[in-house]
Amino acid sequence: MKVYRDQSFIRPDLQAHLYSERLLDNVRALRGLCAPTTRFCAVVKANAYGHGIREVVNILKNGPVDFFAVATFYEALHIRPLVHRQSILILEPIHPAQPAEQIRACAAAGFHCVLASLEGLDWAGKALAGTDRILPVHLNIETGMGRCGMPPEEAAVLLTRLRSQTMLRLAGVFTHYATADEDDISFAWEQHRRFETFLQEHRLKDRPDLLIHSCNSAATLKMPPAHYTMVRCGISMYGYYSRPTSQPPICLKPVLKLQAPLTLIKKIKAGESVGYGRSFLAKRDTLAAIVPLGYADGYRRAFSNKAVMKLGDRFIPVIGRVCMDQLIVDVTDVPNVQTGQMVTVIDDDHQSPCGVYALAELADTICYEILTMIHAHVNRIVH
Ligand SMILES: *Cc1c(COP(=O)(O)O)cnc(C)c1O
Repeated sequence: MKVYRDQSFIRPDLQAHLYSERLLDNVRALRGLCAPTTRFCAVVKANAYGHGIREVVNILKNGPVDFFAVATFYEALHIRPLVHRQSILILEPIHPAQPAEQIRACAAAGFHCVLASLEGLDWAGKALAGTDRILPVHLNIETGMGRCGMPPEEAAVLLTRLRSQTMLRLAGVFTHYATADEDDISFAWEQHRRFETFLQEHRLKDRPDLLIHSCNSAATLKMPPAHYTMVRCGISMYGYYSRPTSQPPICLKPVLKLQAPLTLIKKIKAGESVGYGRSFLAKRDTLAAIVPLGYADGYRRAFSNKAVMKLGDRFIPVIGRVCMDQLIVDVTDVPNVQTGQMVTVIDDDHQSPCGVYALAELADTICYEILTMIHAHVNRIVH
């Protein structure tokens, strides 16, 4: 199945530095919170949270990781040639709009797939009829996320029907918490109780052949009794708590630092304006510099006149509106500025004024969105 249109295009001047040891340290720290037998599923959907899925999988494939989780079949297909030891779990449930050929490809590749409806079960069974590869499936149980899980009653019917589906093998049962990243996690515990009830009613916990999983990053950190036999960590692996935390149980280190060059330095006289809409008016004679990065590269327009970047050990303000592929910074206070100097656009430090948390706050969003916006054409440099 062909999923590439052309060879990937990259921008060597936009550099996302990835620090392998930090990624591995974060995984080790997360595993350290779990029982030694608990499996670790590395969530690498959305281009590994903007970090670069190929690079991240290549770093982790020889590391302490048992599974990779992706959102879609296409991502699974994309990383399959890189992965040898681990299994790949596709989080999007099987649905009848998927070509039968795709389901057969999943079975042939050994992907683990999710079932979240009877319709999906019937479709998968039909697609695999007459073939010789058994598809491992995980049931997504709705306990309160209100997304694509299936109500426990429907799941009970599915479990019965599954017994007559010889081409499908029950490999796992899971759920997903809606509020594990919030201060008040009482609803997450309620979901855990519902999940536990389902597992007990169907005696699923006694089955050593099953992977039972419920924890994302926040729940892995905060809800040890919910670890079961596998945890699914995304954001924490990349070095972030789902939201800024003052007393984290483990130390996570940001894996990525994004840099770009200064490409033009120019003088702007007091009283002149900068950029679209003239949203910045120079109060003083200003030395400005262009950075060839904009909202099309994942640097949000909401950062206009608000964000800062780092040049050496100084922070320089973004002035005027962020354009599609360039923006302007004020370098008046920096001695000896030169074109070609690299500025840090996204810092690898939780406290930094241009760290991911600070940027998320400026754009009124969460750290996940800041990271996943980083365009695939940014050059990934692995250290
Ligand atoms: C994305 C996702 C995760 C990972 O969530 P983090 O908060 O990034 O750890 C885990 N489980 C499911 C089902 C997901 O969709």
